[in-house]
Amino acid sequence: MSEQHGTQVSATPLPADTDVLVVGAGPVGLTLAAELARRGADAVLIDRQAEGANTSRAAVVHARTLEVLEGIGAAPELVDQGVAVPRFTVRDRDRALLTIGFGGLPTAYPYTLMIPQNRTEEILAGRLRAAGGRVHRPHEVARLAQDDDGVTVTTTGGETIRARYVVGADGMHSTVREQAGIGFTGDTYAQSFVLADVRLDWKLRSDEVMLYFSPAGLLVVAPLPDGRHRIVATVDDAPAHPTAADVQALLDERGPARRPARGRRGRVELPVPRPPPARRPVPQRPRPAGRGRRPRAQPGGRPGHEHRVQDAVALAARLAAVLDGTADAASLERLRGRAPARRRGRVTFTHRMTGIATARARRRRRARNALLRALDRVPAVHRAMAMNLSELAVDPARR
Ligand SMILES: Cc1cc2nc3c(=O)[nH]c(=O)nc-3n(C[C@H](O)[C@H](O)[C@H](O)COP(=O)(O)OP(=O)(O)OC[C@H]3O[C@@H](n4cnc5c(N)ncnc54)[C@H](O)[C@@H]3O)c2cc1C
Repeated sequence: MSEQHGTQVSATPLPADTDVLVVGAGPVGLTLAAELARRGADAVLIDRQAEGANTSRAAVVHARTLEVLEGIGAAPELVDQGVAVPRFTVRDRDRALLTIGFGGLPTAYPYTLMIPQNRTEEILAGRLRAAGGRVHRPHEVARLAQDDDGVTVTTTGGETIRARYVVGADGMHSTVREQAGIGFTGDTYAQSFVLADVRLDWKLRSDEVMLYFSPAGLLVVAPLPDGRHRIVATVDDAPAHPTAADVQALLDERGPARRPARGRRGRVELPVPRPPPARRPVPQRPRPAGRGRRPRAQPGGRPGHEHRVQDAVALAARLAAVLDGTADAASLERLRGRAPARRRGRVTFTHRMTGIATARARRRRRARNALLRALDRVPAVHRAMAMNLSELAVDPARR
């Protein structure tokens, strides 16, 4: 028996049945299982990996997500272990075009929190344990057989578990979604990304997420705990293992332009090893998930794990209500139907923004920069953008 995230790896057979089987112990599955456990629902969480991943991957947690995670008690620890970043700037080389402060937002978390995903998962696993749950490992779902009363799930090891509901939190290439016939056939952007966690000899502010617009592509520089920075850059073909020189070249080409002597240019000191991102397919283009035969096998929500974490809490509440008879089963299907429209708006916006941000023609860039600087002087624009970035705008009461 080994330990991961302080959660014991199961060597025991799965229970014969459960009300809810959650497949996948990433951030979404852990949140869902913790919320179900907190609500006293009978739920089992399984994952095919013998241990949780220990890599940093997604690092941004927005205010709305922290609020949603208050229920399972995860927010204080996340805040304690992450870096609170109260500003977001859009830049063209040395010039800040737009500065968005989160300071005045109507939330207990007026900032973006930066924290590596493995730490987030450890904290969520801890909350699951505190609520009496655990991760059953390693159990890989191979098949789902659905009938009117529930789902029989078979693992690759030949074990079966019967569940009234199955939730697929098993990532992008979801077996649950595929087996339930809930096709997610979204496109992916042709763009690939360089991701690296590095230490920078960097004189710019460390309480800011910086988004650099550049004809060569986007560059994001964001602080992480322990004095590191997360670098994200759109490139045509990301190297499997970005080196310090690769990251330096991206900073030189797209980041601050002034000479290091004036203390403005980033210098990469130490890339922290991380797994190759390769051509990571990122936010899928909008395409509504097809209808499954029944809502008994429920996909974990919208793409973008932060959205799915928020959706997971809503889904857990609804499932718990259905199980104790205070909501009808059809309401699960209604919950699933709500997501795509919001997703469509956000992805289309992202797509358009990328085109504007990487404009090559000098006249277009000048016009863009002038527009952004003009918008920067309008308080209502600041607030709207801060509300959107923090995801607080999803709450109609606060718009
Ligand atoms: C190298 C890398 C860098 C990334 N960087 C970023 C970033 O900078 N920003 C960002 O927003 N996102 C990033 N991501 C994506 C982010 O990590 C995912 O969006 C997030 O992990 C999704 O969370 P999830 O809980 O939905 O699924 P996952 O974290 O993918 O978890 C799914 C779980 O399901 C389990 N599983 C899968 N199939 C089965 C099965 N058949 N049976 C049982 N268990 C199964 C897997 O073992 C896994 O533990 C990155 C991903 C990678 C790989």
